[in-house]
Amino acid sequence: MEKYEQLSVIGEGSYGIVTKSRHKDTNEIVAIKRFLETEEDTTIRKMALREIRMLKRLRHENLVTLIEVFRHRKRFYLVFEYVAGTLLDELERYNGGLECEMCRERIFQVTRAISYCHYNNIVHRDVKPENVLVSTLGVVKLCDFGFARLVTNPNEACTEYVATRWYRAPELLVGDPHYSSPVDVWAIGCLFAEMMTGDPLFPGESDIDQLYLIVKLLGRPCLRHLQLASKNARLKTALRIPETNSPGLQKHFSSWTPLALEFLSCCLRMDPTHRLSCTDLLKHRYFTHDRFPQRFLPSLRNKVNTELSSPLLRKLKTEILMSTDKRDERRTTLTNWTISLKEGSMKRKLSGDTTASEVISNARSFFDSFVITSRI
Ligand code: ADP
Ligand code: MG
Repeated sequence: MEKYEQLSVIGEGSYGIVTKSRHKDTNEIVAIKRFLETEEDTTIRKMALREIRMLKRLRHENLVTLIEVFRHRKRFYLVFEYVAGTLLDELERYNGGLECEMCRERIFQVTRAISYCHYNNIVHRDVKPENVLVSTLGVVKLCDFGFARLVTNPNEACTEYVATRWYRAPELLVGDPHYSSPVDVWAIGCLFAEMMTGDPLFPGESDIDQLYLIVKLLGRPCLRHLQLASKNARLKTALRIPETNSPGLQKHFSSWTPLALEFLSCCLRMDPTHRLSCTDLLKHRYFTHDRFPQRFLPSLRNKVNTELSSPLLRKLKTEILMSTDKRDERRTTLTNWTISLKEGSMKRKLSGDTTASEVISNARSFFDSFVITSRI
Protein backbone atom coordinates (compact mmCIF):
# COMPACT_ATOMS: atom_id res chain seq x y z
CA MET A 1 0.00 0.00 0.00
CA GLU A 2 2.95 2.30 0.62
CA LYS A 3 3.69 2.16 -3.10
CA TYR A 4 0.55 4.17 -3.87
CA GLU A 5 -0.75 7.57 -2.84
CA GLN A 6 -4.53 7.96 -2.78
CA LEU A 7 -5.72 11.02 -4.72
CA SER A 8 -9.53 10.84 -4.76
CA VAL A 9 -12.51 8.50 -4.49
CA ILE A 10 -14.04 7.52 -7.88
CA GLY A 11 -16.69 5.01 -6.90
CA GLU A 12 -18.23 3.81 -3.69
CA GLY A 13 -20.41 0.76 -3.16
CA SER A 14 -21.46 -1.72 -0.53
CA TYR A 15 -18.42 -3.91 -1.29
CA GLY A 16 -15.81 -1.11 -0.77
CA ILE A 17 -14.42 1.80 -2.77
CA VAL A 18 -12.51 2.62 -5.95
CA THR A 19 -9.89 5.35 -5.68
CA LYS A 20 -7.77 7.24 -8.14
CA SER A 21 -4.21 6.74 -6.91
CA ARG A 22 -0.64 7.48 -7.90
CA HIS A 23 2.19 5.00 -8.09
CA LYS A 24 4.89 6.85 -6.17
CA ASP A 25 7.88 5.57 -8.16
CA THR A 26 6.54 5.95 -11.68
CA ASN A 27 3.98 8.73 -11.02
CA GLU A 28 1.51 6.61 -12.94
CA ILE A 29 -2.18 7.06 -12.20
CA VAL A 30 -4.06 3.85 -11.37
CA ALA A 31 -7.51 2.90 -10.07
CA ILE A 32 -7.48 0.86 -6.87
CA LYS A 33 -10.52 -1.14 -5.85
CA ARG A 34 -10.43 -1.71 -2.11
CA PHE A 35 -12.83 -4.27 -0.72
CA LEU A 36 -14.23 -4.02 2.79
CA GLU A 37 -12.71 -6.26 5.44
CA THR A 38 -12.99 -9.73 3.99
CA GLU A 39 -12.24 -11.78 7.11
CA GLU A 40 -15.73 -11.32 8.58
CA ASP A 41 -17.88 -10.83 5.50
CA THR A 42 -18.00 -13.98 3.40
CA THR A 43 -20.09 -12.39 0.62
CA ILE A 44 -17.52 -9.67 0.05
CA ARG A 45 -14.70 -12.18 0.31
CA LYS A 46 -16.39 -14.32 -2.32
CA MET A 47 -16.96 -11.31 -4.57
CA ALA A 48 -13.35 -10.16 -4.27
CA LEU A 49 -11.92 -13.60 -4.91
CA ARG A 50 -14.24 -14.13 -7.85
CA GLU A 51 -13.23 -10.84 -9.44
CA ILE A 52 -9.52 -11.60 -8.93
CA ARG A 53 -9.85 -15.11 -10.33
CA MET A 54 -11.71 -13.91 -13.42
CA LEU A 55 -9.51 -10.94 -14.17
CA LYS A 56 -6.31 -12.92 -13.87
CA ARG A 57 -7.56 -15.23 -16.62
CA LEU A 58 -8.85 -12.53 -18.91
CA ARG A 59 -6.58 -10.35 -21.01
CA HIS A 60 -8.13 -8.38 -23.85
CA GLU A 61 -7.74 -4.88 -25.21
CA ASN A 62 -11.41 -4.16 -24.42
CA LEU A 63 -11.27 -5.39 -20.83
CA VAL A 64 -9.89 -3.37 -17.94
CA THR A 65 -6.35 -4.47 -17.11
CA LEU A 66 -5.63 -5.75 -13.63
CA ILE A 67 -2.06 -4.74 -12.77
CA GLU A 68 -1.63 -6.34 -9.38
CA VAL A 69 -3.47 -7.62 -6.31
CA PHE A 70 -2.38 -7.35 -2.72
CA ARG A 71 -3.75 -7.79 0.78
CA HIS A 72 -3.29 -5.23 3.47
CA ARG A 73 -4.90 -5.29 6.93
CA LYS A 74 -7.44 -8.01 6.05
CA ARG A 75 -8.53 -6.27 2.86
CA PHE A 76 -8.03 -7.08 -0.80
CA TYR A 77 -6.73 -4.33 -3.09
CA LEU A 78 -7.04 -4.64 -6.84
CA VAL A 79 -4.83 -2.27 -8.82
CA PHE A 80 -6.18 -1.46 -12.30
CA GLU A 81 -5.12 0.68 -15.21
CA TYR A 82 -6.85 4.04 -14.77
CA VAL A 83 -9.54 4.77 -17.37
CA ALA A 84 -10.72 8.37 -17.50
CA GLY A 85 -14.48 7.93 -18.01
CA THR A 86 -17.45 5.61 -18.33
CA LEU A 87 -20.28 5.18 -20.80
CA LEU A 88 -22.53 6.66 -18.15
CA ASP A 89 -20.46 9.87 -18.24
CA GLU A 90 -20.84 9.94 -22.02
CA LEU A 91 -24.60 9.41 -21.80
CA GLU A 92 -24.78 12.32 -19.38
CA ARG A 93 -22.58 14.50 -21.57
CA TYR A 94 -24.40 13.82 -24.84
CA ASN A 95 -27.96 14.57 -23.94
CA GLY A 96 -30.30 12.80 -26.36
CA GLY A 97 -27.91 10.03 -27.26
CA LEU A 98 -24.49 9.52 -28.77
CA GLU A 99 -23.76 10.25 -32.41
CA CYS A 100 -24.52 7.15 -34.60
CA GLU A 101 -20.93 6.29 -35.50
CA MET A 102 -19.86 6.73 -31.88
CA CYS A 103 -22.62 4.28 -30.86
CA ARG A 104 -21.32 1.77 -33.35
CA GLU A 105 -17.72 2.10 -32.14
CA ARG A 106 -18.75 1.73 -28.49
CA ILE A 107 -21.14 -1.20 -28.96
CA PHE A 108 -18.69 -3.01 -31.23
CA GLN A 109 -16.05 -2.88 -28.51
CA VAL A 110 -18.49 -3.88 -25.77
CA THR A 111 -19.61 -6.86 -27.88
CA ARG A 112 -16.00 -7.79 -28.55
CA ALA A 113 -15.19 -7.70 -24.82
CA ILE A 114 -18.17 -9.89 -23.96
CA SER A 115 -17.52 -12.23 -26.85
CA TYR A 116 -14.06 -12.81 -25.38
CA CYS A 117 -15.55 -13.46 -21.91
CA HIS A 118 -18.08 -15.94 -23.33
CA TYR A 119 -15.36 -17.68 -25.29
CA ASN A 120 -13.64 -18.18 -21.94
CA ASN A 121 -16.90 -19.52 -20.44
CA ILE A 122 -17.46 -16.41 -18.38
CA VAL A 123 -20.81 -14.65 -18.19
CA HIS A 124 -20.37 -11.08 -16.96
CA ARG A 125 -23.94 -10.67 -15.64
CA ASP A 126 -23.69 -6.94 -14.90
CA VAL A 127 -23.26 -5.16 -18.23
CA LYS A 128 -24.44 -1.54 -17.80
CA PRO A 129 -23.14 1.98 -18.56
CA GLU A 130 -21.25 2.36 -15.24
CA ASN A 131 -19.32 -0.83 -15.92
CA VAL A 132 -18.22 0.21 -19.39
CA LEU A 133 -15.13 2.35 -18.96
CA VAL A 134 -14.13 4.58 -21.88
CA SER A 135 -10.63 6.00 -22.24
CA THR A 136 -9.83 9.50 -23.49
CA LEU A 137 -9.02 8.02 -26.91
CA GLY A 138 -12.38 6.19 -27.01
CA VAL A 139 -11.18 2.70 -26.11
CA VAL A 140 -13.84 0.70 -24.28
CA LYS A 141 -12.75 -1.30 -21.23
CA LEU A 142 -15.37 -3.50 -19.66
CA CYS A 143 -14.91 -3.65 -15.89
CA ASP A 144 -16.51 -5.01 -12.70
CA PHE A 145 -16.36 -8.78 -12.63
CA GLY A 146 -17.88 -8.90 -9.14
CA PHE A 147 -20.92 -10.78 -10.47
CA ALA A 148 -19.20 -12.66 -13.26
CA ARG A 149 -19.61 -16.40 -13.30
CA LEU A 150 -17.81 -19.32 -14.84
CA VAL A 151 -20.19 -21.56 -16.80
CA THR A 152 -18.69 -24.82 -17.89
CA ASN A 153 -21.72 -27.06 -17.59
CA PRO A 154 -24.76 -25.70 -19.48
CA ASN A 155 -27.15 -27.86 -17.46
CA GLU A 156 -25.95 -26.59 -14.13
CA ALA A 157 -28.42 -24.30 -12.37
CA CYS A 158 -27.18 -20.78 -11.65
CA THR A 159 -27.79 -18.94 -8.42
CA GLU A 160 -29.91 -15.83 -8.24
CA TYR A 161 -28.04 -12.59 -7.96
CA VAL A 162 -28.93 -8.95 -7.68
CA ALA A 163 -27.56 -7.11 -10.70
CA THR A 164 -28.89 -3.83 -12.04
CA ARG A 165 -32.54 -4.24 -12.96
CA TRP A 166 -32.81 -2.12 -16.13
CA TYR A 167 -30.44 -4.38 -18.07
CA ARG A 168 -31.81 -7.66 -16.73
CA ALA A 169 -32.98 -10.24 -19.26
CA PRO A 170 -36.53 -11.71 -19.02
CA GLU A 171 -35.19 -15.14 -18.01
CA LEU A 172 -33.62 -13.55 -14.91
CA LEU A 173 -36.82 -11.68 -14.10
CA VAL A 174 -38.92 -14.85 -14.17
CA GLY A 175 -36.32 -16.68 -12.08
CA ASP A 176 -35.11 -19.20 -14.65
CA PRO A 177 -32.18 -21.00 -12.98
CA HIS A 178 -30.77 -22.05 -16.35
CA TYR A 179 -29.78 -18.68 -17.70
CA SER A 180 -26.43 -18.25 -19.41
CA SER A 181 -24.46 -16.01 -21.79
CA PRO A 182 -27.61 -14.63 -23.56
CA VAL A 183 -28.23 -12.50 -20.45
CA ASP A 184 -25.21 -10.42 -21.49
CA VAL A 185 -26.53 -10.17 -25.05
CA TRP A 186 -29.81 -8.77 -23.71
CA ALA A 187 -27.84 -6.18 -21.75
CA ILE A 188 -25.90 -5.25 -24.91
CA GLY A 189 -29.25 -4.54 -26.59
CA CYS A 190 -30.42 -2.34 -23.70
CA LEU A 191 -27.10 -0.52 -23.71
CA PHE A 192 -27.25 0.03 -27.46
CA ALA A 193 -30.77 1.48 -27.36
CA GLU A 194 -29.75 3.78 -24.51
CA MET A 195 -26.71 5.01 -26.42
CA MET A 196 -28.79 5.68 -29.52
CA THR A 197 -31.55 7.59 -27.71
CA GLY A 198 -29.98 8.84 -24.48
CA ASP A 199 -32.72 7.20 -22.41
CA PRO A 200 -32.73 3.82 -20.69
CA LEU A 201 -34.89 1.44 -22.71
CA PHE A 202 -36.58 -0.36 -19.81
CA PRO A 203 -36.32 1.79 -16.67
CA GLY A 204 -38.33 -0.53 -14.42
CA GLU A 205 -39.14 0.56 -10.89
CA SER A 206 -39.48 -2.97 -9.56
CA ASP A 207 -38.84 -6.44 -10.97
CA ILE A 208 -42.50 -6.77 -11.90
CA ASP A 209 -42.52 -3.34 -13.52
CA GLN A 210 -39.35 -4.31 -15.37
CA LEU A 211 -41.01 -7.35 -16.88
CA TYR A 212 -44.13 -5.32 -17.61
CA LEU A 213 -42.13 -2.71 -19.58
CA ILE A 214 -40.38 -5.41 -21.61
CA VAL A 215 -43.60 -7.21 -22.50
CA LYS A 216 -45.32 -3.91 -23.25
CA LEU A 217 -42.76 -3.14 -25.96
CA LEU A 218 -41.81 -6.56 -27.26
CA GLY A 219 -44.86 -8.72 -26.76
CA ARG A 220 -45.34 -12.01 -24.98
CA PRO A 221 -42.43 -13.84 -23.39
CA CYS A 222 -41.51 -17.32 -24.59
CA LEU A 223 -43.42 -20.39 -23.44
CA ARG A 224 -40.78 -21.48 -20.93
CA HIS A 225 -40.91 -18.09 -19.21
CA LEU A 226 -44.69 -18.13 -19.15
CA GLN A 227 -44.57 -21.56 -17.52
CA LEU A 228 -42.02 -20.41 -14.95
CA ALA A 229 -44.11 -17.34 -14.18
CA SER A 230 -47.34 -19.34 -13.89
CA LYS A 231 -46.49 -20.23 -10.28
CA ASN A 232 -46.27 -16.58 -9.32
CA ALA A 233 -49.47 -14.49 -9.41
CA ARG A 234 -47.66 -11.13 -9.66
CA LEU A 235 -45.42 -12.30 -12.49
CA LYS A 236 -48.44 -13.69 -14.29
CA THR A 237 -50.13 -10.27 -14.16
CA ALA A 238 -47.03 -8.53 -15.53
CA LEU A 239 -46.96 -10.94 -18.45
CA ARG A 240 -50.63 -10.58 -19.36
CA ILE A 241 -50.26 -8.29 -22.37
CA PRO A 242 -51.85 -9.28 -25.66
CA GLU A 243 -49.31 -9.38 -28.46
CA THR A 244 -51.26 -6.92 -30.60
CA ASN A 245 -50.80 -4.18 -28.00
CA SER A 246 -47.03 -4.27 -28.22
CA PRO A 247 -45.67 -1.85 -30.81
CA GLY A 248 -42.41 -3.74 -31.26
CA LEU A 249 -39.01 -2.22 -31.92
CA GLN A 250 -39.69 -1.12 -35.48
CA LYS A 251 -42.53 1.20 -34.53
CA HIS A 252 -40.81 2.37 -31.38
CA PHE A 253 -37.60 3.34 -33.19
CA SER A 254 -39.09 4.32 -36.55
CA SER A 255 -36.27 6.78 -37.34
CA TRP A 256 -33.47 4.21 -36.99
CA THR A 257 -31.67 2.68 -39.96
CA PRO A 258 -32.87 -0.86 -40.78
CA LEU A 259 -29.48 -2.36 -39.89
CA ALA A 260 -29.27 -0.70 -36.47
CA LEU A 261 -32.82 -1.85 -35.80
CA GLU A 262 -32.06 -5.39 -36.90
CA PHE A 263 -28.96 -5.49 -34.70
CA LEU A 264 -31.05 -4.41 -31.71
CA SER A 265 -33.74 -6.98 -32.39
CA CYS A 266 -31.08 -9.74 -32.55
CA CYS A 267 -30.09 -8.81 -28.98
CA LEU A 268 -33.58 -8.35 -27.60
CA ARG A 269 -35.27 -11.59 -28.54
CA MET A 270 -37.48 -12.75 -25.72
CA ASP A 271 -36.35 -16.34 -25.99
CA PRO A 272 -32.66 -16.47 -24.96
CA THR A 273 -32.03 -19.36 -27.35
CA HIS A 274 -33.08 -17.10 -30.24
CA ARG A 275 -30.72 -14.27 -29.32
CA LEU A 276 -27.59 -14.02 -31.44
CA SER A 277 -24.28 -14.96 -29.82
CA CYS A 278 -21.68 -12.21 -29.48
CA THR A 279 -19.56 -13.91 -32.15
CA ASP A 280 -22.48 -13.65 -34.56
CA LEU A 281 -23.33 -10.11 -33.48
CA LEU A 282 -19.81 -9.06 -34.45
CA LYS A 283 -20.50 -10.41 -37.93
CA HIS A 284 -23.84 -8.64 -38.20
CA ARG A 285 -24.27 -6.47 -41.27
CA TYR A 286 -24.73 -3.45 -39.01
CA PHE A 287 -20.96 -3.69 -38.52
CA THR A 288 -19.81 -5.32 -41.74
CA HIS A 289 -21.89 -3.68 -44.49
CA ASP A 290 -19.38 -0.87 -45.02
CA ARG A 291 -16.22 -2.67 -43.87
CA PHE A 292 -16.31 -0.90 -40.50
CA PRO A 293 -14.21 -3.53 -38.63
CA GLN A 294 -11.48 -3.37 -41.27
CA ARG A 295 -11.22 0.40 -40.80
CA PHE A 296 -11.85 0.56 -37.08
CA LEU A 297 -9.71 -2.26 -35.72
CA PRO A 298 -6.33 -0.92 -36.93
CA SER A 299 -7.09 2.53 -35.53
CA LEU A 300 -8.21 0.94 -32.26
CA ARG A 301 -4.94 -0.99 -32.10
CA ASN A 302 -2.97 2.24 -32.44
CA LYS A 303 -4.87 3.76 -29.55
CA VAL A 304 -4.45 0.67 -27.39
CA ASN A 305 -0.74 0.63 -28.15
CA THR A 306 -0.44 4.23 -27.00
CA GLU A 307 -2.45 3.67 -23.84
CA LEU A 308 -0.59 0.54 -22.81
CA SER A 309 2.81 2.19 -23.05
CA SER A 310 3.03 3.46 -19.47
CA PRO A 311 5.63 1.82 -17.19
CA LEU A 312 3.17 -0.35 -15.22
CA LEU A 313 1.19 -1.50 -18.25
CA ARG A 314 4.05 -1.97 -20.68
CA LYS A 315 4.99 -5.33 -19.21
CA LEU A 316 1.44 -6.63 -19.76
CA LYS A 317 1.04 -5.20 -23.24
CA THR A 318 2.33 -8.18 -25.23
CA GLU A 319 0.14 -10.58 -23.26
CA ILE A 320 -2.96 -8.40 -23.81
CA LEU A 321 -2.38 -7.90 -27.54
CA MET A 322 -1.53 -11.56 -28.14
CA SER A 323 -4.58 -12.76 -26.25
CA THR A 324 -6.78 -10.34 -28.23
CA ASP A 325 -5.29 -11.44 -31.56
CA LYS A 326 -5.61 -15.12 -30.69
CA ARG A 327 -9.34 -14.66 -30.24
CA ASP A 328 -9.72 -12.59 -33.42
CA GLU A 329 -7.64 -15.06 -35.42
CA ARG A 330 -9.82 -17.94 -34.24
CA ARG A 331 -12.91 -16.07 -35.21
CA THR A 332 -11.71 -15.39 -38.74
CA THR A 333 -10.15 -18.85 -39.29
CA LEU A 334 -13.37 -20.60 -38.38
CA THR A 335 -15.28 -18.43 -40.79
CA ASN A 336 -15.85 -19.91 -44.17
CA TRP A 337 -14.88 -16.96 -46.26
CA THR A 338 -16.40 -16.31 -49.60
CA ILE A 339 -14.94 -13.65 -51.74
CA SER A 340 -16.95 -12.45 -54.65
CA LEU A 341 -14.74 -10.76 -57.16
CA LYS A 342 -16.56 -8.57 -59.58
CA GLU A 343 -14.80 -7.73 -62.77
CA GLY A 344 -17.20 -6.49 -65.38
CA SER A 345 -19.71 -9.27 -65.86
CA MET A 346 -17.33 -11.92 -64.46
CA LYS A 347 -17.96 -13.04 -60.91
CA ARG A 348 -15.58 -15.54 -59.40
CA LYS A 349 -15.90 -17.13 -56.05
CA LEU A 350 -13.11 -18.16 -53.72
CA SER A 351 -13.76 -19.95 -50.49
CA GLY A 352 -11.72 -21.93 -48.01
CA ASP A 353 -10.45 -22.29 -44.50
CA THR A 354 -7.55 -19.92 -44.84
CA THR A 355 -7.60 -16.99 -42.46
CA ALA A 356 -9.45 -13.94 -43.62
CA SER A 357 -6.33 -11.80 -43.69
CA GLU A 358 -4.51 -14.31 -45.92
CA VAL A 359 -7.39 -14.41 -48.36
CA ILE A 360 -7.68 -10.66 -48.37
CA SER A 361 -3.99 -9.99 -48.94
CA ASN A 362 -3.83 -12.58 -51.74
CA ALA A 363 -6.88 -11.15 -53.45
CA ARG A 364 -5.62 -7.62 -53.02
CA SER A 365 -2.50 -8.29 -55.03
CA PHE A 366 -4.55 -9.32 -58.05
CA PHE A 367 -7.62 -7.19 -58.07
CA ASP A 368 -8.21 -3.57 -57.41
CA SER A 369 -11.77 -3.83 -56.21
CA PHE A 370 -13.57 -6.69 -54.57
CA VAL A 371 -16.47 -7.37 -52.29
CA ILE A 372 -16.14 -9.65 -49.31
CA THR A 373 -19.00 -11.36 -47.65
CA SER A 374 -18.52 -13.70 -44.72
CA ARG A 375 -20.74 -16.66 -44.04
CA ILE A 376 -20.65 -19.21 -41.25
P1 ADP B 1 -18.80 -1.82 -8.23
O1 ADP B 1 -18.83 -3.23 -7.83
O2 ADP B 1 -18.97 -0.87 -7.11
O3 ADP B 1 -19.76 -1.48 -9.29
P2 ADP B 1 -16.73 -1.23 -10.21
O4 ADP B 1 -15.56 -2.07 -10.51
O5 ADP B 1 -17.79 -1.15 -11.22
O6 ADP B 1 -17.29 -1.60 -8.78
O7 ADP B 1 -16.20 0.26 -9.95
C1 ADP B 1 -17.07 1.29 -9.52
C2 ADP B 1 -16.84 2.55 -10.35
O8 ADP B 1 -15.46 2.97 -10.20
C3 ADP B 1 -17.04 2.36 -11.85
O9 ADP B 1 -18.40 2.52 -12.21
C4 ADP B 1 -16.15 3.45 -12.40
O10 ADP B 1 -16.81 4.70 -12.34
C5 ADP B 1 -14.98 3.48 -11.43
N1 ADP B 1 -13.89 2.61 -11.90
C6 ADP B 1 -13.76 1.28 -11.75
N2 ADP B 1 -12.63 0.82 -12.29
C7 ADP B 1 -12.01 1.90 -12.81
C8 ADP B 1 -10.80 2.09 -13.54
N3 ADP B 1 -9.99 1.08 -13.82
N4 ADP B 1 -10.47 3.34 -13.92
C9 ADP B 1 -11.28 4.38 -13.63
N5 ADP B 1 -12.44 4.27 -12.97
C10 ADP B 1 -12.81 3.05 -12.56
MG1 MG C 1 -19.85 -1.56 -11.19
